Amino acid sequence: MNPDSIGNYFVGLCCDGNARFVAVDALAPALEMKERHGLAGNASVLAAEGMLTALLLSAHVKGDERLTLQIAGESPQFSLVVDVNGDGTTRGRFVPQRLVPGRSFQGTLMVLKSLWQTELYRSVADVKDETLEEALRRFLVTSQQVDSQVWVLAERDRAGNLLFAGGLLVEKLPHADPDDFRARLAGDRAPDLKLLMKGLGGVIGGDASIGGSLEILGAQTIRYQCSCGPERVRGILRSLGHEELRAIIDEQGRAEVNCHFCNTDYVVERDELEAMVVALAEERPAGEA
Ligand SMILES: [Zn+2]
Repeated sequence: MNPDSIGNYFVGLCCDGNARFVAVDALAPALEMKERHGLAGNASVLAAEGMLTALLLSAHVKGDERLTLQIAGESPQFSLVVDVNGDGTTRGRFVPQRLVPGRSFQGTLMVLKSLWQTELYRSVADVKDETLEEALRRFLVTSQQVDSQVWVLAERDRAGNLLFAGGLLVEKLPHADPDDFRARLAGDRAPDLKLLMKGLGGVIGGDASIGGSLEILGAQTIRYQCSCGPERVRGILRSLGHEELRAIIDEQGRAEVNCHFCNTDYVVERDELEAMVVALAEERPAGEA
């Protein structure tokens, strides 16, 4: 785990107190996802946009809750899964490593919120030859009956380096006038995301604005972190049962497990597997065959 893989997440009021916002700078965790899965070119851009989308949608995810974004691209073909947890940790997986150029795609997008293994919310939408930003706009209009505007931007240079990954979601507050809200965020008055992130991060002082003055009410760091680990892998192996483990020992000599999310390889050697088999066999209730 790279300790520098930290992004920032801000929430607050904007448009002179007429709207709330969520702003995300996810360059560091997006770079970590790119490196872990060996993503190049457009695949790294689309993966970063997916991570931004999941982070923007996670505004109401608290504590042990988790938001999962799954995208199945049909044209071009790809698959993306991003998890965001209430503590600001995120992880993502994108395949394949390379994609044809272009930000638009056709496919489906699924957002689900869960607490441990219990699903709390699920919503599915089609993506019809749109960018992820366009699809997200449509998704917000249909899934949330609130006037909102959203921007998602990931950029890379010609060499394929990811340079920027930022997103902004602005939602009108109930008391605000809808026409005034749209006018504040229309056309060339739309916020410059790069400038905004610098302002929010304190790099250029308190100059940040979104459709008028803004006030930061909360901030959180975002970190690429996977929930896998040696203990979890051992737990999964134990859950296979002693017969299955016996078969693994006989066929492979040891167990090799790869975490699809963070691409970490785990190896459990024969000695330890043998000990697990013995322990599991002893745990069997008396009288069982
Ligand atoms: Zn992992």
